[in-house]
Amino acid sequence: MRFELGGGKAIELARGDITAESTDAIVNAANSSLMGGGGVDGAIHRAGGPAILDECKAIVAKQGYLEDGQVVATTGGRLKARYVLHTSGPVYEDGTFGEAETLASCYRESIRLADRMGLKTLAFPSISTGTYGYPVHLAAPVAVAALAEAMNGVENVTLARFILFDDLTFAAYRDAAKAFAEDSR
Ligand code: ADP
Repeated sequence: MRFELGGGKAIELARGDITAESTDAIVNAANSSLMGGGGVDGAIHRAGGPAILDECKAIVAKQGYLEDGQVVATTGGRLKARYVLHTSGPVYEDGTFGEAETLASCYRESIRLADRMGLKTLAFPSISTGTYGYPVHLAAPVAVAALAEAMNGVENVTLARFILFDDLTFAAYRDAAKAFAEDSR
């Protein structure tokens, strides 16, 4: 499913496993320690091999833990994608702790970093809606709006894909993208 943003830019939604994506970079729903974990984080480290964790360790040694909503880049190791952008999403409490702003920041800062790196295509998982407990029907509209807005503001990134692991998550993002497209007409 594809949504045109104008200016030759688009957002695509697909069901699948993000480790198989051949975009220039894939985004990892990491945690602030950057030491790997479960869910999509574990899958990316397993598929990409140890070079990713080595770079994560070097980054933490240099600049400390990653703040929520911020992003850093490493190699893609053995992945098809050349780079992994690691971002730490918010842990969802009850919505009153700035969770939406932090989640929007993950998408916005990933797009901006990719753009500064000269990358054209990027794939995202559904950040924070697994272990971090963000209800997907609340996360999806935040993610879609933040991504569309950030893409309109950059030069190089022309395609962002959401790669969604299960039917429920895919349906939530599809509904959010349709509503966003309606509203922006
Ligand atoms: P978080 O800690 O940010 O909540 P999780 O990895 O627990 O991150 O979950 C985020 C989303 O990623 C969930 O929808 C989960 O089903 C999904 N996911 C897990 N593995 C993969 C994968 N290989 N590709 C794409 N999405 C995945």
